[in-house]
Amino acid sequence: MTLLFVGAGISNLALGRFFAELGHSVSIIDRRNNIGGNCFDYFDENSIDIHAYGAHIFHTNDAEVWRFLSQFTQWYPYQHEVKALVDGKLVPCNNNIFA
Ligand SMILES: Cc1cc2nc3c(=O)[nH]c(=O)nc-3n(C[C@H](O)[C@H](O)[C@H](O)COP(=O)(O)OP(=O)(O)OC[C@H]3O[C@@H](n4cnc5c(N)ncnc54)[C@H](O)[C@@H]3O)c2cc1C
Repeated sequence: MTLLFVGAGISNLALGRFFAELGHSVSIIDRRNNIGGNCFDYFDENSIDIHAYGAHIFHTNDAEVWRFLSQFTQWYPYQHEVKALVDGKLVPCNNNIFA
């Protein structure tokens, strides 16, 4: 089967890879000049990692997702803590929408 995916975000990239590994012919196009969709990043001339469409942090507790993506990237450990400013005090806020 020959497949054309319109949009080279992480969803279609993962799907395209899946179908390609099954032996299908896959093409992926995008109107942007980069792949990765909103997750796209690049290093500028000062070696600073620029997240072109907004900062992205990767989370998963799914070993298969971790294994799949680890074929294509290395990981940098990262931690953050969300706090809210209430009555002039910073208090822990655990409702991280991407956790
Ligand atoms: C500012 C911001 C911060 C985020 N932070 C996080 C985070 O920290 N962690 C997290 O898990 N998620 C985060 N997200 C969500 C994450 O970006 C999306 O879940 C993810 O990018 C969705 O991937 P996608 O492939 O479905 O779509 P997209 O990344 O939107 O990719 C779609 C692609 O299709 C292309 N396209 C669309 N229409 C056409 C067309 N007609 N012709 C050609 N190309 C087309 C677009 O140019 C784009 O490249 C964030 C999103 C934003 C905007």
